[in-house]
Amino acid sequence: MRTGFCAAAASAVALTSASAETIYLTADRMIDPISGRVIEGPALLIEDGKITQRSTKAAMSVPADARTIDLTGKTIMPGFIDMHVHLTGSATKGRGWSGVGISQHRSLIWAVGHARDTLLAGFTTVRNTGSDGYSLVDLRDAINDGEVVGPRMFVAGPPVGIVGGHCSDNNLLPPEYEASGKGVATGPWEMRAKVRQNIKYGVDLIKTCSTGGVFSKGTSLGAAQGTVEELTAIVDEAHARGLKVASHAHGIVGIKNAIRAGVDTIEHSSFLDDEAIRMAKRNGVTFVPDIYNTEYTLSEGEKLGVRQEALDKERAVGTIQRESFTKAVKAGARVAFGTDAALFPHGDNAKQFSRMVEFGMTPMQAIQAATNVAADALGKKGELGCLNAECMADIVAVDGNPLADVTALEDVSFVMKSGEKIR
Ligand SMILES: [Zn+2]
Repeated sequence: MRTGFCAAAASAVALTSASAETIYLTADRMIDPISGRVIEGPALLIEDGKITQRSTKAAMSVPADARTIDLTGKTIMPGFIDMHVHLTGSATKGRGWSGVGISQHRSLIWAVGHARDTLLAGFTTVRNTGSDGYSLVDLRDAINDGEVVGPRMFVAGPPVGIVGGHCSDNNLLPPEYEASGKGVATGPWEMRAKVRQNIKYGVDLIKTCSTGGVFSKGTSLGAAQGTVEELTAIVDEAHARGLKVASHAHGIVGIKNAIRAGVDTIEHSSFLDDEAIRMAKRNGVTFVPDIYNTEYTLSEGEKLGVRQEALDKERAVGTIQRESFTKAVKAGARVAFGTDAALFPHGDNAKQFSRMVEFGMTPMQAIQAATNVAADALGKKGELGCLNAECMADIVAVDGNPLADVTALEDVSFVMKSGEKIR
């Protein structure tokens, strides 16, 4: 059981400020997710945090003023993107993972360590798909300003959803407390107001919920939440302001409602049928199925205080969610990497790669899900999740060849973010 980031990892962190120096980086091989090919003996030129030239050791000589980073024996690829994390949440410290009794200040302090653990594991970008307040907007800004070590963050703030729903309302306190989440609303105009409030306080995307969830009390995974009219209002308001919308959805009715409303990503996407997959493909919707955390919840949840209702729901959804994943991959739907980290210890995110391969992806497809496919879903195509000229210099390296053994991705030995060597 981990209780935070370990001392050895902490000492491996170098918090250097971005500099104008030129870096000449070489390795044994490079996985290029955009072309789906492997390049032997790659060489990259990095300036001002970006890749400015991409070639091979044989073809590109070292510029006179360049610092050299020689990753002999290693495979490089773009830094990973996890599309679904909750950095304020903790599997081991969260008192049954409910968050009740934990202040936002305390959970923000946890998030500082979680951000570091996540980056050291090779995840140079994360999308935080919901937290109680706006504290992660501050963490994002602190990371961008170099005050804290962590991944580039896209922050959702409080999820927008119905009274008693999975988003924001966890329904754990008795009625006399009149507890209600910040993003709880009724009707299209109230939903729009919540979206506007989130944008006012600096979020990067909007999270909503169109079905019940595993960890909210008294909600059903199969039952739809919110009307198409309400979901459409959320999407319309967000898109008008240039923000994308992620909808948590397990059941098929809520998945289709969210796609009809125009959301950009379907989180969990547990109960998929052929029609839902066709609708997603037609509308450019990306599925974000978290297919590692069930194992952790079912093996550790009981002793960590997870309620019986949540354990029962997790058990009911595990197998069908993996079958849906296989179906979506076979049908050629867009599937991005997202783990719901917080339901297992932050920093273990890469364990999901091997499960994605087990349930139908090739190792290359699993890497693409966490790089260029995720970047597309973020609206950052050509900027993140790639190693071409003009891409951010977010680079990870592992020993050996992860296309032969995908578990190599669980042991990242080199991390660069925006041209800064982190590990
Ligand atoms: Zn989540």
